[in-house]
Amino acid sequence: MRSLVERQHHVLDDAQLADLTSLIFAEAPTEHRLVHTPLTGLPLAEIPLSTRSDVGCAVQQARSALRAWTALSHRRRAAVVLDFHDRLLAQREDVLDLIQLETGKTRANAFEEVAEVANVARYYARSAAKLLAPRRFRGALPVLGAATERRLPRGVVGIITPWNYPFALSLGDALAALLAGNAVVLRPDPRTCLSVLWGLRLLLAAGLPPGVLQVLTGEGDVIGAAVARGADYVCFTGSTGTGRQVARLAADRLVGCSLELGGKNALYVRADAPLELAVDVALRSAFAAGGQVCAHTERLVVHDDIADAFVPRFLEAVQGMRLGVALDYGYDMGSLFGPDQLQRVGDHVRDAVRHGARVLTGGRARPDLGPWVYEPTVLDGVTAAMDVRDAETFGPVVSIYRVRDDEAAIRLINDSDYGLHATIVSADRAAARRLAPRLRTGTVSINESFIASWGATGAAMGARGHSGSGGRHGAEGLLKYTVVQSVAEQRVGSLAVDRTAQRRFAGLFSGGLIVLRRSGLR
Ligand code: NAD
Repeated sequence: MRSLVERQHHVLDDAQLADLTSLIFAEAPTEHRLVHTPLTGLPLAEIPLSTRSDVGCAVQQARSALRAWTALSHRRRAAVVLDFHDRLLAQREDVLDLIQLETGKTRANAFEEVAEVANVARYYARSAAKLLAPRRFRGALPVLGAATERRLPRGVVGIITPWNYPFALSLGDALAALLAGNAVVLRPDPRTCLSVLWGLRLLLAAGLPPGVLQVLTGEGDVIGAAVARGADYVCFTGSTGTGRQVARLAADRLVGCSLELGGKNALYVRADAPLELAVDVALRSAFAAGGQVCAHTERLVVHDDIADAFVPRFLEAVQGMRLGVALDYGYDMGSLFGPDQLQRVGDHVRDAVRHGARVLTGGRARPDLGPWVYEPTVLDGVTAAMDVRDAETFGPVVSIYRVRDDEAAIRLINDSDYGLHATIVSADRAAARRLAPRLRTGTVSINESFIASWGATGAAMGARGHSGSGGRHGAEGLLKYTVVQSVAEQRVGSLAVDRTAQRRFAGLFSGGLIVLRRSGLR
């Protein structure tokens, strides 16, 4: 504990804290928020909070900065982002410390955030020019006219992000929006804004013009909502309940929004699943970042034929996990984010037990390891009477459900309002691929945890049902930050048809369409 406190002061001394917080758009803050580190529960920083009027000013300044940024070529914008990419990887240890201090997760989980931002930076820096390139089409009359479809930036994009993966979600989404030519007003959770500010400092050093990316703090229902009211497009990541409110704000102004929301994700262990693989994938899927990942597994669906072999091996692996808080690698699970999370996780387990579920392992807080550490927990006998059956726990609690066959597994996986992610473990990957389209989820990973889908940056991650709409990564993750504009021009002649020639024109035109159809053209 003492060495952790010393490390904390070494990692985040007063000068660095002052430098980072100076990047917050808060002109005359009247309030500060004292933020604690989940590693020890001790104070980490005093964060100045932006006010409502700051939001208007930040949007205005972002709009002014936008002109110069939009005028840059893709190549110049990409150069800034690629320089940021290299600096990030070279200086990763510094931001890993900050992410761990803010969130309480393990260093390996913190590294996932760095890897995600680097992947997004590199992917879009290399592909934005192609994805955004103008596309040419035939005009209303072939040869005589032509049309060009262009992808233009939306303007000032508002991004609102949660505390669980603050660096990855804030910077990842912001980089895509910036590379599409937008300015960004970003509102991370104030409790986890330091790593985001560190990223902003690095982007400025890499050549991002000042003002193009603004970071605001302040309470979600005030400042987050003001961002949603002021931006030309809103990208929201968080819970389904808040997502609905943000969607209403966007709908009122008829601006677009993307919603990356909660999940109640399932992992299906097929009858033929290789046992060791199934145990390993289930372990990492359920307990990554203490289960505080939107795509992690909370429902373990196990085929009857393998259940008796799988369950004891899985429990043994869970009991063998190394829990602890340290600013270093070597742990399998760290702390929950704070007392609210600890309460929620404990409530779900207590409610399940009260209604007859069995705790196969875990089910206890571990204050001896850290103030908000909770054991990885496996439940059995969960029924619809229990909160944990359908509501997102967002913690290290997974429930086991046995099924007779693939059909029953599909029914159970789809029996959720959410539709974010599913995993299938099977020796027959072709069979798993055939099951995937029948799952009502935005992504499916086969024989690997959600990291497989998350790390495939070129493929869009969708969401269905209460898990939201819109997508991150792939073409979709960039194009959502653009508006489409088509410019059609008439090269020769006119489209006017004389009243007396309308019948003849209709005949000729129909004949022309039939020729197009027969020649296989569009
Ligand atoms: P939350 O909905 O409470 O808050 C999310 C963000 O919105 C926070 O920054 C919060 O301050 C802000 N906010 C709160 N009220 C607001 C309002 N009225 N208007 C605008 N902004 C407001 O969620 P949380 O507890 O911070 O995060 C956990 C949730 O996020 C979980 O449900 C998790 O599954 C989800 N999540 C989803 C993804 C994804 O990609 N699908 C990724 C990470 C987390």
